[in-house]
Amino acid sequence: MRDRIVIANWKMNGSREANRQWVKNFLAQPVKLACRTVVCAPFIHLPELVEACRGSSIEVGAEDVNENVSGAFTGEVSAAMLAEFGLSCAIVGHSERRRLYGETDNRVAMKAVALVRNGLKPIVCVGETLEERERGDTPAVILRQLNAVLSVIRPSDLGAVAYEPVWAIGTGRSADPETAQAVHACIRQRLVQANAAEGRLVPILYGGSVTPDNAAGLFRQPDIDGALVGGASLNASSFYRIGEALCEH
Ligand code: PEP
Repeated sequence: MRDRIVIANWKMNGSREANRQWVKNFLAQPVKLACRTVVCAPFIHLPELVEACRGSSIEVGAEDVNENVSGAFTGEVSAAMLAEFGLSCAIVGHSERRRLYGETDNRVAMKAVALVRNGLKPIVCVGETLEERERGDTPAVILRQLNAVLSVIRPSDLGAVAYEPVWAIGTGRSADPETAQAVHACIRQRLVQANAAEGRLVPILYGGSVTPDNAAGLFRQPDIDGALVGGASLNASSFYRIGEALCEH
């Protein structure tokens, strides 16, 4: 059985007080979710978040990591540093990092390796821009991004692959379930080709304007095993309701 997971990506949002309140509100929900729940937050908030979530159902992850072991990389955080604080995973290859900070497929792959070497699971984001979709390049782009990672780690090293069409992120325009499923099926096929037994077990998450209202339709698709949620994850009860939709499907 594959894990079913909802992951919050808070991006550059939150404060010490707001985060404490978020955890309190999420854990105050009457029924514990039957899926895995992960919160990825800015580096500076991670130690307090790990403490606040200790012993609860919430796992904590980072939004990024540096691929190097140590040294002159001002402002960066290594995978060993994340491991020391008890994190379970980190997002790599988010489209905002690829677009705003020029991260290449190769760098994303090196980040995944650094995480695996330190016992953390990479959540690898892949996704096409609107222009790439309109040119019919979606499968080629997704496979190029995925191949870079699969050339250096095994499917069983992955925490998840997140399909995040760039045109759907933060736009309020989610991919429709069938469109997302078609790409998830292509990702699944590639993972299984890399290793059949391991590839079948990798959760493939959808990300891009997921809300409590559109989540159920997405989760009914056979290869959508959960969601990576940005905007709607900033509210604990909205994020919980997305988790609830996942548990019901
Ligand atoms: C994201 O940035 O990973 C994301 C999915 O954002 P949103 O849910 O706001 O579209």
